[in-house]
Amino acid sequence: MGRAVISFPTVEAAIFLDRDNTLIENDDDLGDPDGVHLCPGVSRGLQELRNAGYRLVVVTNQGGVARGAYSEADVDAVHQRIAFLVDESSDEVGLIERFYYCPFHPEAKLEEYRRDHSWRKPHPGMLIQAAHDMQLDLGRSWMIGDQARDVQAGRSAGCRTALVNPDEKISIEAKPTYAGKTFPEAVDFILKQKTNAPEAPANMNGQTTSLASPESTPRALSNATNTDSDVGMLRRTIHDLTEELRSERMRRAEFTPLKMAASFCQLLAVLLAMLGLLQVGGELEVFTKWMIGAGLMQLMTMTMLLLDLKG
Ligand SMILES: [Mg+2]
Repeated sequence: MGRAVISFPTVEAAIFLDRDNTLIENDDDLGDPDGVHLCPGVSRGLQELRNAGYRLVVVTNQGGVARGAYSEADVDAVHQRIAFLVDESSDEVGLIERFYYCPFHPEAKLEEYRRDHSWRKPHPGMLIQAAHDMQLDLGRSWMIGDQARDVQAGRSAGCRTALVNPDEKISIEAKPTYAGKTFPEAVDFILKQKTNAPEAPANMNGQTTSLASPESTPRALSNATNTDSDVGMLRRTIHDLTEELRSERMRRAEFTPLKMAASFCQLLAVLLAMLGLLQVGGELEVFTKWMIGAGLMQLMTMTMLLLDLKG
């Protein structure tokens, strides 16, 4: 008698890719496919990531559409060109599986595109939509980009993040998991992380599983996968928080000219107050002068400390 067999959708990790100055060289409004030039090492890096089992998804802000610099059809044409160039030097067709872009901008010239949108990075909307559409595990996924907003979007979605721009300022809000200079460097780091911390197989990679096997029920597999993902996300969150606290402590403990000046004023205030106290029983006018001086110095100390705290 035959057994019923059921297959489960595979929940895989993805690499979310920023487009401009991550995959292609572009500082301007690009609506012409002929203007597409891949960054060095991108084709090879994408192939390595795909070989490691990651699904590749582009997520890009395209505010040029909102400005009327080019159309959504132009964006599609550019993306087709990128896909063609990437596939041309790879072992398979469709290496980049999907392109998501956000044409909206809160200050758009064109009214139909004028709004803040959850897809616009640093919002994580595109990543979350892709995870929904493609059954992706965000906790095991990465976001690679050249801007702080890419890091923020990735972090907000629960992904690890790689920044590939040494000139971009790293803030506490946009602290990447990895910061490097080039795309290939980020790829190497991600692949090493995967090797060093092998991930639990997610849903048996599409294999079929018999319903007759009690330990392999869909619910059990699904829960195991979610638990692995949740634990990973929790660890990363704790690590990020610890790092942020450490950075904040170091920032507060940093030496600044204002702090030094405040210390000097505080010393003067104490000195003047002591000189004033030595006048007790003597001339009132002299005592008052010393004490007023001490008070002014104390006031300056407090002002400088407040300025330092705000700065
Ligand atoms: Mg970019």
